[in-house]
Amino acid sequence: MDGPGEYLPDVTEGITRVEDLPKPRIIERSRNYPRQPCPACGHSAYRDQVVTRILHDLGELKANRPIDLKVTYSQHYCSHCDIYFNADMDDLALPKARYTHRVVSMAVRLVVEDGLPYRTASWHLWRDHRVFVPFATIQNWVEAGGKKGRAARRHRVPGRGAGRLQRVRRRR
Ligand SMILES: [Zn+2]
Repeated sequence: MDGPGEYLPDVTEGITRVEDLPKPRIIERSRNYPRQPCPACGHSAYRDQVVTRILHDLGELKANRPIDLKVTYSQHYCSHCDIYFNADMDDLALPKARYTHRVVSMAVRLVVEDGLPYRTASWHLWRDHRVFVPFATIQNWVEAGGKKGRAARRHRVPGRGAGRLQRVRRRR
């Protein structure tokens, strides 16, 4: 029976070295386009080159593995503005971020809404979502969120605590 009180033995208990952690499953994502509208002038700008970035996502608890998104994306050049820009991938993560929006919002909710200390939130993310986030990174996210983000988040979140975690698990 699945439930909030379900006991899941943690095979990572006692692991202290990052290199001993389970290897992530790589999921490929593409944001690679021949043209994209320039964010400054709207001109349809040709692809200049194709590059990749890795984003840490919420992992697979049952498979006991982290998930990394390998995003292949195009970089474009606008000849009108003489600027380079990346294909739109704001749905996945912030520019230059190493974690997906899903990880950031989960971490911030654990601290702001569930009241967990940063270190506990970091451990919780690893134990229940197989994503390793240093506690100082979580602290940066929470402090960057500020009052504006906090108010917006409260309206978006449908449930709290165990009910929400259970719902996330059931989807897998
Ligand atoms: Zn332009």
